[in-house]
Amino acid sequence: MNYPRIILKKGRDVALRHGHPWIFSGAIAAVEGKPGPGDIVLAADAAGRPLALGFYNKGDIAFRLLTDDAAARIDVGFWRRRIERALTLRRRVVPADTDAFRLINAEGDGLPGLVCDCYGRWLVVTIGTAGMEKWRETVIGLLLEIQAPVGIYERSEGRSRQLEGLPDRIGTAAGVVPERAEITENGLRFEVDLLAGQKTGFFLDQRLNREIVGGFSRGAAVLNCFSYTGGFSVYAARQGASRVVSVEASAAANEIACRNLLRNGFSQDQHPVLTANVFDYLRETEETFDMIILDPPAFAKSRKDVDRSARGYKEINLQTARLLREGGFLATFSCSNPIDPELFEKIVLGAVRDAGKNAQLLRLLGAGADHPVNLAHPEGRYLKGLLLCLHSG
Ligand code: SAH
Repeated sequence: MNYPRIILKKGRDVALRHGHPWIFSGAIAAVEGKPGPGDIVLAADAAGRPLALGFYNKGDIAFRLLTDDAAARIDVGFWRRRIERALTLRRRVVPADTDAFRLINAEGDGLPGLVCDCYGRWLVVTIGTAGMEKWRETVIGLLLEIQAPVGIYERSEGRSRQLEGLPDRIGTAAGVVPERAEITENGLRFEVDLLAGQKTGFFLDQRLNREIVGGFSRGAAVLNCFSYTGGFSVYAARQGASRVVSVEASAAANEIACRNLLRNGFSQDQHPVLTANVFDYLRETEETFDMIILDPPAFAKSRKDVDRSARGYKEINLQTARLLREGGFLATFSCSNPIDPELFEKIVLGAVRDAGKNAQLLRLLGAGADHPVNLAHPEGRYLKGLLLCLHSG
């Protein structure tokens, strides 16, 4: 195929050669053949040597890698192989008794701008780039054929789509999709709001951490902050926590959390679900805990938010460090892309020290294996967490 070409400036091919999947507009010396947003282009180095094929766009991210086989053909067969490769990985890594997982993780699966989450017999798809938008029909057709869902719901919305110059598209893309589905995760059952829930309905990226943290909850008094529909709480209860307090601002999420506790056999008398602002709750409560989970929303969406959000992370980590009993565990997360792991660790350490405590690092936490990330693409590693054991003196 004769794709339009983008020629990189001298020396600006290094990142791509190392496997990084993006080229920024500043690295481009010339664009040949007038590609439009989302068109496939061939990237070549300053000497004209072909390097890779990818999606072109006019924004800051001018090229998104599809393949470094510059002679490849991007056709239905290409997309089919990529989707089947993604599915093969999930067959190996998704645990037993689990029918909800991320089937396609965009750049992490070599499919820039395509996210597909599987919720039992339904799929929820998000298209985030102009390039993938052009292949929408093809990709949805392949998902129907390969995974045979009862329905596919599309939630193509948000900031990345705006940056790509695309309007939101939300609605049923194929088949029939109910408002709510019941999924199974490690044998536990959860209700998921497929149409209006946060993200695509459930925080699938935290499954592995729910397993790990839940596993350390035996006999513990647990506080689950930013609890959404009660994921961590149900795991902790299953592992024999003596009491799990869930704190979440959304009343709608809390209604589902209560039903999720119930459907797994736990009562709200033992495991209360509170509708409250976590910042206020932490300042006001007099209860202490053996285990605290802090899984806030992304406080920083872009670089300019970093300082303000760092103060937010510091505040909640400081308050929780104070509420932990001697030898208690803190599982603390950040899903803010602009906060890198080093900065996050620095903020948490500062908070622990201000609370007059020391921290043992038990585990570094991140998303599970159904959320693969290209090793050359640190921007893909948005979720980071620390499992700490805190001591005084
Ligand atoms: N741990 C959850 C996901 C948490 S997402 C899981 O495993 O499913 C973050 C949650 O924080 C969202 O549900 C959001 O409604 C809630 N939230 C955001 N700001 C809040 C605040 N100030 N106080 C309480 N909850 C808040």
